[in-house]
Amino acid sequence: MSVFEHVKRLVVKVGTSSITYDTGMVNMRQLEKLCRILADIKNSGVEVILVSSGAIAVGASKLGLAGGRPATIPQKQASAAVGQCELMYIYDKHFSEYHHKVAQVLLTRDVIEKPDLRTHAENTLGTLLSLGAIPIINENDTIAVDEIRFGDNDTLSAIVAQLVHADGLVLLSDIDGLFEANPSEVPDAPIIRRVREIDEHILSIAGGSGSNRGTGGMITKIQAAQLCFDSNCAMAIINSNRLEGLYDLLEGREVGTLFSKED
Ligand code: GLU
Repeated sequence: MSVFEHVKRLVVKVGTSSITYDTGMVNMRQLEKLCRILADIKNSGVEVILVSSGAIAVGASKLGLAGGRPATIPQKQASAAVGQCELMYIYDKHFSEYHHKVAQVLLTRDVIEKPDLRTHAENTLGTLLSLGAIPIINENDTIAVDEIRFGDNDTLSAIVAQLVHADGLVLLSDIDGLFEANPSEVPDAPIIRRVREIDEHILSIAGGSGSNRGTGGMITKIQAAQLCFDSNCAMAIINSNRLEGLYDLLEGREVGTLFSKED
């Protein structure tokens, strides 16, 4: 039995390394599968909100920037502009095949910090959900400068979960969950299946960063978990290599690491 079995409004965050190859180009097989599973979850009666990274990597590779890695901030912002519409094109195409509507929402930190703007964002997202659309959210990297950046989509996804009053957030990652030590350094480190609070121990094992194509590491995921604890939203980290894990989670089977006070 898992708290995720009762989730009615689910935010799913997918990271750059989960939907692109090392070239920066889109991993079509993975993206197509993600859309099919999310469409199916929505068909089952769960509202779905997707937070997708990948705009910068996809845009940089499309623009032919050296190694798919933009060197300057204007190059990053230009890459995001190109990659975001490429990603939305692909999402729209796949979700449309399953008769679902998608909506692009790009956010910056000032939107959630200014109460009137926050209310507008909440209202728009609520309306989109009531109209049956799947909001697909990213940071507005094309205009975001440091003062108004979220910085990483783990944090952004937890804030989105608050904005839409979600009861579940899933971070699809390139790792199985939270481990007692970094598995790339300690291969037999045990996975932690359940976190009931973010204490010193959890913070101490979350240090270090993730892959080099996204911005998050474990620490940003733990910060996201703290935001979820604060707003009574269950959170899970599961491996994007096995997207069926989403079904496992929603059907109460053990998968990844679950962050929740309740059973
Ligand atoms: N917003 C960035 C992008 O779409 C990704 C940020 C992140 O991966 O955390 O490329």
